[in-house]
Amino acid sequence: LPKNHISHYDLNKLTNSPDALAQQEEVLLLTPMSKFVPEYWNNINALTYDHSLITLGFILPRNTDGEVALKALESSIKDLQSKNKLNYKKIVILRQDSNSLESQKEQDRHALSVQKERRGMMALARNSLVFTALSPDHSWVLWLDADIVETPPTLIQDLTIHNKPVLSANVYQKFINKETNQEEIRPYDFNNWVESDEGLAIAANMADDEIIVEGYSQIATYRPLMAHFYDPNGDVSTEMPLDGVGGGAVLVKADVHRDGAMFPSFPFYHLIETEGFAKMAKRLGYEVFGLPNYLVYHYNE
Ligand code: GDP
Ligand code: MN
Repeated sequence: LPKNHISHYDLNKLTNSPDALAQQEEVLLLTPMSKFVPEYWNNINALTYDHSLITLGFILPRNTDGEVALKALESSIKDLQSKNKLNYKKIVILRQDSNSLESQKEQDRHALSVQKERRGMMALARNSLVFTALSPDHSWVLWLDADIVETPPTLIQDLTIHNKPVLSANVYQKFINKETNQEEIRPYDFNNWVESDEGLAIAANMADDEIIVEGYSQIATYRPLMAHFYDPNGDVSTEMPLDGVGGGAVLVKADVHRDGAMFPSFPFYHLIETEGFAKMAKRLGYEVFGLPNYLVYHYNE
């Protein structure tokens, strides 16, 4: 065996610090992508964290949507490359080996009846992505959905400074109020929540294979939702402990994934995907937080 075929990594030297950028900590930015949204691409390219410390990882479904998104992603990458503006450490693009839903219209994908199947598939895609792309150099993993179209350019610095094992931003959406013709904002992601007695009672009475998905009136959990804790006059750095997270914009210490925290595609404490991930991180002994006043914006279809 040639000597250079042996790689040593001391994971103990891999740090997570509140001044991640100054410490040159590497970030793996992960995006499951069924659609290519140009605003998402422009937004990540405007991030001010040193791009040579960022690896991008994408996973696309093996369907027509995935085909179209892949072409758009590849041509956007080539475009930056031709302008000598592509400075990421590495870009990893995966095609799913698992199934995905055909119809991705907002109405269809949000129907309660398809959540177990859809979120289960999303969980498998997220797991494939993180366990394939994570390398021994990464200190942080940033999960950012492909339809997060606006964040502060300092997103990575703003999240890493909290130095939390799992930290979720508050996902809102901009829209035009038809009555006033003015742009307003409304909550989008209801998967950032605090467990409630009602939620626990519902879970306790469920069959083993049943799941609770948050944000549906049919399952009244009365869980406090981070989306509703946004205070426009509040401190953006206010933290709140969470029990469930969404995947829109979540920073995770890479060690949390290395310890085995993944996105269950099966009911785990009656939770799946990102909500199950938060539960698993907690069972591994990590704390989960959210930033109610730190907004990022979801695309408006
Ligand atoms: P919603 O915002 O909660 O309705 O969820 P989305 O449909 O936006 O899905 C979350 C993220 O996963 C987005 O980045 C999508 O582009 C992506 N996505 C959705 N469906 C699939 C899929 O079947 N496979 C993969 N790889 N990504 C998907
Ligand atoms: Mn979305």
